[in-house]
Amino acid sequence: MEQRRTALVIGGGIGGLTAAVALDRRGWSVTVVERAAALAPVGAGIALAPNAQRALDTIEVGDAVRATADWQGAGELRLPGGRRLARTDNAAAVRRFGGPVVVAHRAELVALLAARLPEGAVRTHATATLVDPGDPGPGGRPARVRIAVPDAAAADDGDNARADRTSNDGDTATATHTRTATDLELSADLVVAADGIHSAVRRAVFPGHPAPRYAGFTAWRFVVPAPDGVRGVAHETWGPGGVWGTVPLAGGRIYAYATAAVPAGGRAVDDERAELLRRFGAWHHPVPALLDAVGPAEVLRNDVYTAAAPPPAFHHGRVALLGDAVHPMTPNLGQGGCQAVEDAVVLAHEAAPDADLGAALAAYTRQRLPRTMEVVRRAERIGRLTTWRSRPACALRAGLMAATARLAPDLALRALDEIADWRPPAGTYAAGARGTRTAARREEQE
Ligand SMILES: Cc1cc2nc3c(=O)[nH]c(=O)nc-3n(C[C@H](O)[C@H](O)[C@H](O)COP(=O)(O)OP(=O)(O)OC[C@H]3O[C@@H](n4cnc5c(N)ncnc54)[C@H](O)[C@@H]3O)c2cc1C
Repeated sequence: MEQRRTALVIGGGIGGLTAAVALDRRGWSVTVVERAAALAPVGAGIALAPNAQRALDTIEVGDAVRATADWQGAGELRLPGGRRLARTDNAAAVRRFGGPVVVAHRAELVALLAARLPEGAVRTHATATLVDPGDPGPGGRPARVRIAVPDAAAADDGDNARADRTSNDGDTATATHTRTATDLELSADLVVAADGIHSAVRRAVFPGHPAPRYAGFTAWRFVVPAPDGVRGVAHETWGPGGVWGTVPLAGGRIYAYATAAVPAGGRAVDDERAELLRRFGAWHHPVPALLDAVGPAEVLRNDVYTAAAPPPAFHHGRVALLGDAVHPMTPNLGQGGCQAVEDAVVLAHEAAPDADLGAALAAYTRQRLPRTMEVVRRAERIGRLTTWRSRPACALRAGLMAATARLAPDLALRALDEIADWRPPAGTYAAGARGTRTAARREEQE
């Protein structure tokens, strides 16, 4: 039997898992290594615009994601005292982009993706280090990755280690697997570096490339059961130096997020809920009710970073980089994860198992680098507006927002033009999914 080409995905976040599912469906033998002890993403929501939903449709996850989402894009833009500046509705997004933005729970999205992988394909508690990016030329050497497994995990998962040995045999060279008590070396035809914003693989393959830059603000997130009177409420509220957002999730839950312009690396002296209370406790309903409902340990805080410069490429040797590892962006367009999902399906589309890998990776870079860098730039531009602290400047900003909403209600959506209307590449891997069915399934049914 012909051996399948092997892909090793570093990182079990949304980007890595989407790539793994897409490559598995494309015929690759895929292993995902994740350094965390479990695939347990942060307790937060994630907005998925139509571009990401179409990408998920290609791997038949789109319907399930939409089914887990409650909110579909309708909401209000407000000021801290409660004044409404603008309203957004689904219809406008559907008109403009062919579908609404939905917000899913991250854990549910990750579970849906992981469930589509063959059993044993994900190895947690395993930290990967790129040893050799390999050479994608004809007969070129495979990529090599060292996997460190903590002693306890190594001791009790001999079966997994054996599974790795068989599932990672490459076709361009015999896989080498040398294992000490804690290390394992794997070779693969393709390595997908989806190792997130502080990507060690990015540093290894592009050592001169500058690290992501602090965007000037920090972000808090949490999910709580909807307190009384908060169900169905969606708003984003802009105040001096900060933003608060509230979005309903399915199952009677609320996803809340907030940002504030502060120096990097700060932490609340007491706890992050107390910090949110100090900054946002006097803002309009439902902000105080949500802060009453959340426990201090449930509030996540992350400083926000953005790409300091475009990388030379999204690939090097047999390594493809994707997601935050290669295009970290501010969350202001809700596109970081969406772009990671797009990367994943484009990569799988280009990298047919019998394709010339070097040419496929070059095509991947050509399609993804300029597009994602434009999204990085647009998100950062909006991010900068949210850091304004001067009250006269904020009053002017509010006036402009209100006037814009009156004169051209769809104008606010313009920031997502040529982003949210994206469609996956046509061909074997095309979705073309308007609505809920993938093109492939439509053809089957017709
Ligand atoms: C406040 C905030 C709100 C956001 N909201 C949205 C939104 O609404 N919509 C949206 O699309 N995006 C949003 N984003 C962006 C989105 O969260 C990211 O772009 C997305 O999660 C990136 O996914 P990823 O798979 O590339 O990286 P990650 O999710 O960071 O995954 C990387 C994984 O790699 C693992 N890893 C790292 N190093 C190694 C190693 N050496 N070996 C093994 N495993 C390793 C990590 O443990 C991690 O699990 C938001 C971001 C923030 C900060």
